[in-house]
This record gives sequence, structure tokens and C-alpha cells, in this order.
Amino acid sequence: MTIIDVAIIGGGASGSSAAFHLASKSKNVCILEKNISPQERTCGGGVSAAVQNLFPFKLLPIVDEIITNVEFSWCNTDKVVAELSGASPFWIVKRENLDSFLLDQALNSGCNLLSTFNVVDIKKKSNIWQITALDGRQIEAKAIIIADGSQSPWPKTFNLGPSQPKFAFTFSGRIKRKGNLKSETARFEFGLVKNGFAWAFPLNNEVNIGMGTFLDNKNSIPVNEILKSFLPDLGFDPSEVIGHKKKLRVWNGHCKLNGEGILLVGDAASLCDPFLAEGLRPALISGFEAAKSIIYWLDGEVDCLDAYTKIMKSNWGNSMAWGKRISQVFYRFPKVGYQLGVKRPSAPKRIAQILSGEMSYEDIAKRVIKRLLFQNQSSKS
Ligand SMILES: Cc1cc2nc3c(=O)[nH]c(=O)nc-3n(C[C@H](O)[C@H](O)[C@H](O)COP(=O)(O)OP(=O)(O)OC[C@H]3O[C@@H](n4cnc5c(N)ncnc54)[C@H](O)[C@@H]3O)c2cc1C
Repeated sequence: MTIIDVAIIGGGASGSSAAFHLASKSKNVCILEKNISPQERTCGGGVSAAVQNLFPFKLLPIVDEIITNVEFSWCNTDKVVAELSGASPFWIVKRENLDSFLLDQALNSGCNLLSTFNVVDIKKKSNIWQITALDGRQIEAKAIIIADGSQSPWPKTFNLGPSQPKFAFTFSGRIKRKGNLKSETARFEFGLVKNGFAWAFPLNNEVNIGMGTFLDNKNSIPVNEILKSFLPDLGFDPSEVIGHKKKLRVWNGHCKLNGEGILLVGDAASLCDPFLAEGLRPALISGFEAAKSIIYWLDGEVDCLDAYTKIMKSNWGNSMAWGKRISQVFYRFPKVGYQLGVKRPSAPKRIAQILSGEMSYEDIAKRVIKRLLFQNQSSKS
């Protein structure tokens, strides 16, 4: 059996991003994907335009809508609108289009794909990984990237990722018309979902509707009840939504994302933002960074995989540590959070800047701390 350089478990956004970057540097890489082709996924499809910097090809052809305004509401009232005027706008994509586009880019760069390859076993023998599918097919590789999403069993098997994975309960669906949702406007509703929020994102001729609840809820989300309250304001009837529930693994503390010859990316690495469920940007960033580290590692630089964990901590995890704190306070006291947070004159702009990737939660937290220190000093003098 030929031993390939890198096997990637999962051909979603994170796996295809890693595959493209490895294949374009002539590495022998294969995606192992359990489905036949990218399916319609439970995802809002909102992504910062800043991800363009990760790829040499243009992503705009698969962008359905460029968001210029973000509208926030509390139980459909008390609305606040923020203009997105920065250099990095917020895009809405159909996930199936993004995933198949990235997969095609990887395949065109020389990556192989084994579809209907449902990985059920991963073992390491004499420094070579043996990956086995449910139907008995096997692949051998020098390194593996775990990119199989929120339900991945492998972080636990290999003692990677957070010691206690944390999950948000979510629902996402699509409506085949635009309703009252204004063009180029994304809507965030904070009062109707316990410990979370609902959203409506415009697509070309459709709308992505969803909701997520982020604090230790033992039960799943009352989707129908929330849709009944949320959708009439947007000109829709709840019966129009076709969608699915999903448990989404979210960021839960700094942790090791690599072992010897193995890296976690995307949701399998628990990178998703625990406040706003932004998981696409970290999926694409981690795919990019994982590929970079593995390329050096294959060339003999043995410490490069540890560098991957460090880079993801500084480029993403440090912001998520603040995102987690904000999420815990905001969703525990959402009414106060909405009044003091979202309705504060500068707040909608800041949230918009987070969505567009212009600012991190860490930048915002530092600003607030600086302001509090300054206020404290001025009140003393
Ligand atoms: C309701 C909802 C709404 C969201 N909205 C947004 C949003 O608006 N913006 C945003 O940035 N993020 C959003 N997210 C998060 C985002 O969808 C995820 O972070 C992103 O999909 C992570 O990509 P991934 O490639 O790591 O995993 P996935 O997209 O889950 O891909 C994993 C791949 O692995 C394959 N796979 C799984 N098991 C196996 C196996 N055993 N063998 C082989 N292959 C396997 C799967 O078939 C799949 O193709 C949302 C998530 C949810 C649930």
C-alpha cells in the first residue's frame, strides 16, 4: 500500500482548506469523506470577508449577499442598526456552495478524494497512521488532520482538544423567498431564545434562518415555538422553514490541538465562537495553519506541529477566551446585556466589527478595561 503524506478526515470547510494548501505545495494528500458530496449543512453561512486573505483564488463568485447593515432586536422590538463600513465586510454564502468550491480547488491542485469513506478506526504503527473505513477500505499516511466536525470522536481518543467539550444546541433552516428581510441586512434577535439568539441572513433569493442556545442547557431548543414568534416579523410562516437541529462544539478553553503527526482543525478542534457561533473563519484559518505546519514537519522540522497549537492560541484562542466570558455574562442576563451591551451607542458597531473580523473580543475587552481604568483614575483625581 502506498503511504501518502497527509490523510484528512472530513471534507468540510476546514478539511478542504487544509487539503488545498497542502496540495498546492505538491504534498500527496487525500480527503476521506463519509458522504458522496457536500450536502446542505446546518449553517447560517455568515463569514467575514477577511477569509479571502487565506486563499490565492477569489471567493466572491460563491458569495450570495454582501452585508452592509446588521439589525439587532429584543423580542422583535427595540431595534438597533449598525452599519458595516469597514474594509472587511460580512458575507453570506450557501454552505454547500462554499464547501464544494473549496473541495474543487483542492482537487484541482492535486488532492485526492475518497468519498463514502466513513472513518471508523485510526491507529498508529511504526509512525505510520492506518485509517480504516466502515466498508474495510484502508489508507496509510505519515500525518493526519482531523476535520470531521462537531461529533468527532478522535480528540478524545487521542487526548487532544478541551478536556470537557462544550456544545451549543442549534437549529438552521432555509426559506425559499426573501420575505421582509431587507437586502444586504443581517438580523440578530436576542430576546426570543433562552441563553442564545436567533438570526436571519439573506441569500440571493432565499433566507437562512437559525437559532442557538449557548449555556449548559440540558434540553434541546424549542424550535417551533421560537419560529412562531420570530418569523411573522420577517413576513414568513413557520411552516415555510426546512431545517435541522445540530449540536455544535464550541470553544471551551486553551488546549492542545496537535500530537505527533496529528492535528485537529475546525469544529473537531472546538474552535467555534461560543458567543456568536462563528465557526467558518476559524475552520478556514485552522486548515491554512495546519497545512503550513505539516509542510515544515514533513520536511523534518519536528517541533512545527506544536507551533500550530501556539499559533491557533494567539490568532484565535485568546479572542475566544474573552468570547466565552462575554457569552457567559450576556446569555445569563440577556435583557441587561441587550440594554447595556447592544444598545450602548458604540456596541452595534463593535459587534459588526467582530463579525467582519476587524476586531477580536480581546481587542474589545482591552478597550473596556482601559476605559474603566481611565474612569477610575479620573474619579480619584
Ligand atoms: C446551526 C448552525 C449555524 C451556524 N452558522 C454559522 C455562521 O453563520 N457562520 C459561521 O462562521 N459559522 C457558523 N456555524 C459553524 C460552522 O458551521 C462550523 O464551524 C463549520 O461547519 C466547521 O467546519 P468543519 O469543516 O470543521 O466541520 P463540518 O462542516 O461539520 O465538516 C465535517 C466533515 O466531516 C465529514 N465527516 C464526519 N464524520 C466523518 C467520518 N467518520 N469519516 C469521514 N468523514 C466524516 C462530514 O461529512 C463533513 O463533510 C454554524 C453552525 C451551526 C450548527
